[in-house]
Amino acid sequence: KVGGHPKPQAEPLKPAGVDRILVVGSGKGGVGKSTVSSNLAVALAKQGRKVGLLDADIYGPSQPRMMGVNKRPASPDGKTIEPLHAHGVTLMSIGLMLDPDKAVVWRGPMLMGALQQMLGQVNWGELDVLIVDLPPGTGDVQLTLCQRAVLEGAIIVSTPQDVALIDARKAIDMFNTLKTPILGMVENMSFFQCPECGHEAHIFGHGGVADEAEKLGVPLLAQLPIDLDTRLAGDTGTPVAAGNGPMAEAYAKLAERLIE
Ligand code: ADP
Repeated sequence: KVGGHPKPQAEPLKPAGVDRILVVGSGKGGVGKSTVSSNLAVALAKQGRKVGLLDADIYGPSQPRMMGVNKRPASPDGKTIEPLHAHGVTLMSIGLMLDPDKAVVWRGPMLMGALQQMLGQVNWGELDVLIVDLPPGTGDVQLTLCQRAVLEGAIIVSTPQDVALIDARKAIDMFNTLKTPILGMVENMSFFQCPECGHEAHIFGHGGVADEAEKLGVPLLAQLPIDLDTRLAGDTGTPVAAGNGPMAEAYAKLAERLIE
């Protein structure tokens, strides 16, 4: 239960030069939340926006791999942290501060400290938008960010499958309880189009996210197919949105819808 937490009195977590913060959440892991976050960031950067991407997925920080960076960020003065840059995006990941082969067991105060560092001590510079890739579910990171940061709103990624949707609903309920505006839902892995015959197969079900978005009264921002290039691009560190194909166009549209 997320309601009823007192609002902490501390300073709000918002880097001074950052115009707006968008968070990308999901109920379940593995639905493509990080893929959507990185591609959205790259698409916005291609449209001339100053974009930051903060990977706050403490359980599975995948942005270093997806964006093709793995340098440990430098801190020349020992107080502030220099973010990294890739594909036109200013990037920081909790994963860059951790041993990639060690499981992370965070306690509440450690988590707060890490988030505070990511938002307060990283030299984000002037940004039009900071995209935050959240951990899946409805845990402490979401709670802290919604209560302490000034958020423009949340984007919820889900596959059309019931098991993903049930959890997406919970995530939406949490954002509503915390009074974070829901900007809309993205249906990922909507369908697979056979490259040989063009047939569309609805592997994870059909239209589930569209129905849910309508029921909840939130916009359906995009329906993205299961796509080999998307997966390969993510694994090799150059998001598909950096290229010119149909997926790059789909992400460009999503970016335009989010930031007029
Ligand atoms: P999450 O952040 O929700 O855990 P990821 O973005 O890490 O999910 O995606 C999980 C895996 O699925 C990754 O290997 C990613 O490349 C792949 N993936 C995500 N979206 C798609 C898609 N539309 N088509 C094909 N593969 C995808």
